[in-house]
Amino acid sequence: MRNLVHRPRRLRQSPGLRNLVRETRLDAHDFVLPLFVSEKIENRRAIESMPGVAQLSLGEIADEAQRALDLGLQAVILFGIPREKDEHASGAYAEDGVVQQALVAIKSKCPQLVVITDVCLCEYMSHGHCGVTRMDGDHFHVLNDETVALLTKTAVSHARAGADMVAPSDMMDGRIGAIREALDGGGFHDTGILSYAAKFASSFYGPFRDAAESPPQFGDRHSYQMDVANAEEALREVALDIEEGADIVMVKPALPYLDVLWRVRERFGKPTAVYHVSGEYAMVKAAAEKGYLDERAAVLEIMTSLKRAGADIIVTYWARQLVEWIR
Ligand SMILES: [Zn+2]
Repeated sequence: MRNLVHRPRRLRQSPGLRNLVRETRLDAHDFVLPLFVSEKIENRRAIESMPGVAQLSLGEIADEAQRALDLGLQAVILFGIPREKDEHASGAYAEDGVVQQALVAIKSKCPQLVVITDVCLCEYMSHGHCGVTRMDGDHFHVLNDETVALLTKTAVSHARAGADMVAPSDMMDGRIGAIREALDGGGFHDTGILSYAAKFASSFYGPFRDAAESPPQFGDRHSYQMDVANAEEALREVALDIEEGADIVMVKPALPYLDVLWRVRERFGKPTAVYHVSGEYAMVKAAAEKGYLDERAAVLEIMTSLKRAGADIIVTYWARQLVEWIR
């Protein structure tokens, strides 16, 4: 038998020793809870593909935000479902739009809660794409600069209604710079930008589209969201957004893109967020329902992995449970 000098197992012998040398710890302040507010409902409506997640009415949203705060969460990200959609996404930037109304309600009830708003057009466009489209025969185009103009209006209207940060999720070119300029021009120097900087054209968004009622009516999103195969391009996208004024950069989805998350955090050292998306959530939920996985253990492992890979902020549908599990 060799006499081993190094026995790494020495530090794994007891819970106390393992606690002493643990490198990554989850904290309630790591998490951001997504909330869906709908103008079309009076009472909460469960989302079938995302057990435990519901759309909330405008009458319920402030109480739900307060509950999140009471639990120990400090930030939410808000998605809106308007009563009507049209070809100009006018609900996205209407003074009395669903997100704008929800912001006013939340901010008057719990001003200390950090409210981030998703800025995109897909929930408000009758065709469900994230931008203005033009048809050329059978071919459709999502027009970049025309879309950025509407996103800019949307972001400013969210700031006016009380958003702490706006979070553009559309993946148009140049939108961060345009939004920064418009916010500053409107006197909103302190409204931050959390950029969905590397958002991939992922198959894991399916259940979200039920939640946000935003599936595209034709075509797909591959001309604006990123190719899942590209990591170098993700770094270029992130660099552009930082140059244009992003305060926080986000990678989406989470678990299949840990390498991208790690590289973004290492390369730029900016506050880095990750969005653990609906499909990733639904996978674990379904497996847990069948008894194939222990939900709590699996979720804690996933969240720890995301933080270990460099996430400062994790957007997750488990935010409420995580706070309790960690406690
Ligand atoms: Zn969108």
